[in-house]
Amino acid sequence: RGTVILAATPIGNTADASARLVALLESADIVAAEDTRRLYALANRLGVHVNGRVVANHDHNERGKADELLDHVENGATVLVVSDAGMPTINDPGLAIVRRAIERGLPVTCAPGPSAVLDALALSGLPTDRFCYEGFLPRKHSERVQYLRSLRGERRTIVFYETLHRIAESMADLEEVFGADRRMALCRELTKDYEQIRRGTIHEINASVVNDPPRGEMVLVVAGASEDEVGEQPQALSVEELAELAVQ
Ligand code: SAM
Repeated sequence: RGTVILAATPIGNTADASARLVALLESADIVAAEDTRRLYALANRLGVHVNGRVVANHDHNERGKADELLDHVENGATVLVVSDAGMPTINDPGLAIVRRAIERGLPVTCAPGPSAVLDALALSGLPTDRFCYEGFLPRKHSERVQYLRSLRGERRTIVFYETLHRIAESMADLEEVFGADRRMALCRELTKDYEQIRRGTIHEINASVVNDPPRGEMVLVVAGASEDEVGEQPQALSVEELAELAVQ
């Protein structure tokens, strides 16, 4: 039997490619890539020759593709799974093949490396001991506000992915729902030449987004709710607690 290997790829700086990634790109029997052209472009920059077969494995075909790839693993192949940037499965394809491999009892492992979540969290200066990753916020204003409301009492540091197209609206909603004063960091173009981290209160970052719209790729890291803020929230009572109150 072969193995499925998830491999992280650079999120901006080619030199972040691990020696293991380079070796695997050369030796894997099959490379399942989110975008085959981008995979070849990366291999070019790394000066690596991809000897195996390269197949497309994107969000739209990955479920159907998983079993076909795993049949090859059963017959001894090493299947390397890569996405366009960072860690596969983190807002990127890869999870379908991991799940199917587990179900079929086939080996799956990981060659870890860059991922924007941890890079941004570590640079934010906010607590890193407990955090939650929320991926992208909903696109629609009403859904986004509702979603942010559900996170208002979250005590852990919160990490969101964002795009330049929606950053202005998301920041406005964040200030409306979380208030002006919480601390946050907007981390853009991580590992690239124009990397920039803007740190401040939600209000300050919101103002900076209006005055100097950030370009490129970005991650928002927002401090969790303080004890006081959580105390201010109207507390929902459980059925048992309500019954107890009724008895009193
Ligand atoms: N799998 C990737 C990872 O492990 O980070 C994430 C893929 S997701 C489709 C793309 C998003 O990741 C971007 O919209 C941005 O929020 C974030 N991102 C990726 N690279 C980044 C970078 N160099 N700087 C800042 N954010 C980045």
